[in-house]
Amino acid sequence: MSSTLETKRKPRMMSGARTTGHLHIGNYFGAIRNWIKFQDEYECFFGAMDWHGMTTAYKSTEEMQKWNRDIFAEFIAWGLDPQKNVLFIQSQVPEHLELFMIFANLTPMGWLERVPTWKDAEEEAKASDTHNLGRFAYPVLQAADIALYGGMKVPVGQDQVSNIELAREITRRFNHLYKAKLPEPQVILTDSPVVPGLDGRKMSKSYGNTLFMTEEPKVLEKKVKAMPTDPQRARREDAGDPSKCNVFSYHKLFSSTEDLVWVQEGCRSAGIGCGDCKARLLGNINALSEKPREIKKDLLNQPKILDEIIADGNARARKVAQATLLQVRERMKI
Ligand code: SF4
Repeated sequence: MSSTLETKRKPRMMSGARTTGHLHIGNYFGAIRNWIKFQDEYECFFGAMDWHGMTTAYKSTEEMQKWNRDIFAEFIAWGLDPQKNVLFIQSQVPEHLELFMIFANLTPMGWLERVPTWKDAEEEAKASDTHNLGRFAYPVLQAADIALYGGMKVPVGQDQVSNIELAREITRRFNHLYKAKLPEPQVILTDSPVVPGLDGRKMSKSYGNTLFMTEEPKVLEKKVKAMPTDPQRARREDAGDPSKCNVFSYHKLFSSTEDLVWVQEGCRSAGIGCGDCKARLLGNINALSEKPREIKKDLLNQPKILDEIIADGNARARKVAQATLLQVRERMKI
């Protein structure tokens, strides 16, 4: 048996970002920031997951290509090395769907009905015209994504743990039925802070409260200036409470401990104004995103180079995926 399923190299890690538009700061703090740390320790496969994106964005398929390129450029701009990692676009590796179909047949409906993420999402899915089979079967595709690359380690936040447990069940069932040895994925629990929208509600494109990972400076400034503050601070001389202010929630993501102390003391004593507070936040967001913004812009302005990097990543991903599928088919005798 070849090495794909029984690799002795660095443990493999698999993860991805759903293609539904530009990546936002929730993607950064919940995923990409962690992936950057993992890229030396693991053999990593990170994808722009457009089939997953289409479970909800199936009416915007004409935008998918553009979004995939944008996500790819974002991955690189923020520090994921396309040489060290295998960066790919899910739909360009058809084996994802093949393994999905194989897994779908051996996954009892009841397993999917019990997935907490589905239970949580079902009402919203009905309301948004996305109460569809693709969305329901999302965890099966996720199991296939992971198994395809022998993804032994999967970095997720607490909310996704049940999906990976299901992926383990599905993989185990496959191994049992066909006497195979696909690695069962293991969770690496990552720090995934809740990232609220700019107005404090859940971040959602439909609310228009999203902060993207790379915003143009003028747009960024406008968005930060428009953030609501503690309503008790109607006037500059009124003391405020940072725990009631979403600007402070953002400081907790972007600012140093020193700045957090500055905000807390200054807000409570009315020593600083909300304008000062937002200006400091803006500076800190800019300090983090300025360089990636420039790199991303350069990449998108050189489409040929970006295309080559994407094609190379897809080809490397496909090579591994094809080897896995070959073994899967052999085991199943199909
Ligand atoms: S000073 Fe900062 S934390 Fe306090 S209310 Fe104003 S914006 Fe919010």
